[in-house]
Amino acid sequence: MSSVATAGRIGAGSANLLMYGHLVVPRLARWSKDRTRGQVVVRRRDGKGIGFLDEGPGDRNAQGVLVNRGWIHAPAGQRGVPRFKSIDDRYQRRAMRKLLCQICPDPADRDERGVLWLIDRAHGSDRPSWPEGHITGHPPVCLRCAVISDLQCPALASRGYVAVRVRNPVPHGVSGALYEALPGGPALTVDGLTGLRVVHNPVVAQWDDREALPWILMGEATMTLNGCTVVDLREEYERARSAPTLAA
Ligand SMILES: [Zn+2]
Repeated sequence: MSSVATAGRIGAGSANLLMYGHLVVPRLARWSKDRTRGQVVVRRRDGKGIGFLDEGPGDRNAQGVLVNRGWIHAPAGQRGVPRFKSIDDRYQRRAMRKLLCQICPDPADRDERGVLWLIDRAHGSDRPSWPEGHITGHPPVCLRCAVISDLQCPALASRGYVAVRVRNPVPHGVSGALYEALPGGPALTVDGLTGLRVVHNPVVAQWDDREALPWILMGEATMTLNGCTVVDLREEYERARSAPTLAA
């Protein structure tokens, strides 16, 4: 089998990876030279939630939730230092929506058992049925980047993780900052002065939470992982390498 034949499943070399020295930097991560797009959160005139002072098209998602405008990346080579623990919200939401790899721009790996996810054991893994029904803010991965994460990511190494095939990932809701209107505060006041305060950050709310969602500034999208099959990452990689493909 040619290398071209396997490229679709385990990646076409390192051409589309972001590097910092010898480290692969996930697309999901922010960089020190990222600039904020600027946003001022205000109480809506009708009193029924929050908005941006200069809100326009694209500031809400399909469900009408206000979304964080995120960050503007500096040009390649001028991005500064990667902030591995800080998330680029816009990329996270896009990766969840389109089931893209959280590390490179490729689609996440998928086979007959579902989409590939790496889930750390820190959250809920004492539940007998775990990871079935696990709710996550981490996008899935492609096979190549799953192996890279296994080798490189200190957070995964310290907490331990499982590789999971997910047959039915279902959009769950949002993770973001929950605002509250201060009693008697005027409408359309600027965040931090009067009228609004952040109650919890982050808070997680489901898509049907009509009470909370109007007051949340969405950062990340969350997903419920249904139809889970725990797999061995090394076996997955070998399986993909040896599988016949249409290009073979
Ligand atoms: Zn990838």
